[in-house]
Amino acid sequence: MATIEALYRLQELELALKRSKTDLADIAARIERDENALHAHALAVRAQRGLAALEAEQAKLDGEMQDTIERLKGLEQRLYSGSTAASKDLLALQREIAHFKEREGNLEEQLLAKMEQAETAQARAADLEAAYREAESKWRSSLPSLQAEQRRLQQHADDMAAARTEAEAALSAAELKGFRSLEASRGQAIARVERGMCGGCIIAVPSHELQMMRSTHDPVRCPNCGRFLYPG
Ligand SMILES: [Zn+2]
Repeated sequence: MATIEALYRLQELELALKRSKTDLADIAARIERDENALHAHALAVRAQRGLAALEAEQAKLDGEMQDTIERLKGLEQRLYSGSTAASKDLLALQREIAHFKEREGNLEEQLLAKMEQAETAQARAADLEAAYREAESKWRSSLPSLQAEQRRLQQHADDMAAARTEAEAALSAAELKGFRSLEASRGQAIARVERGMCGGCIIAVPSHELQMMRSTHDPVRCPNCGRFLYPG
């Protein structure tokens, strides 16, 4: 194999290995956790918290309602027992009863509203919990195929790593050194020539270099960017 071909093969294998590493990281992340299920879980937890808060508020209102009913009962017992004879005291008692009755009415309204809110929140929390369960189970059932894909990708990466070692071994130390230093300065050491243009700098390759590229086995460099030219 001509040196330039061996170099080009090495570059292609290294690019493919880089892509394969990204694919492997991506699939490992998809096996570890599912973004959809995570999002659905966060929504379900938030809805559950909202519901708990509403239920706590409802319980507090319930307590206040019980207190008010007890107070009213006591006041009415006093009113009807006849133990309060003085008209001034009776008036005060009636005022107090009126006050607690109004309070009872207000609390009843608030309680009804709160119960309605809690009911809506409960339905929503149940829906979101179901959506989360569904997303979670969908993810779990996709795991075997994700794991099979992961094994396939890993095998592919292993094969390419072996081919890369082979491609490196086919090159001399000097060739490899030249390749690495170009790679460090240019990102890619080898550029394909397509329609007479260097694929690295997109500038027309002079005919002298094009000629050399076809006639010699030694790598020819682009006079503009310095990359090795690979006949496309
Ligand atoms: Zn160039």
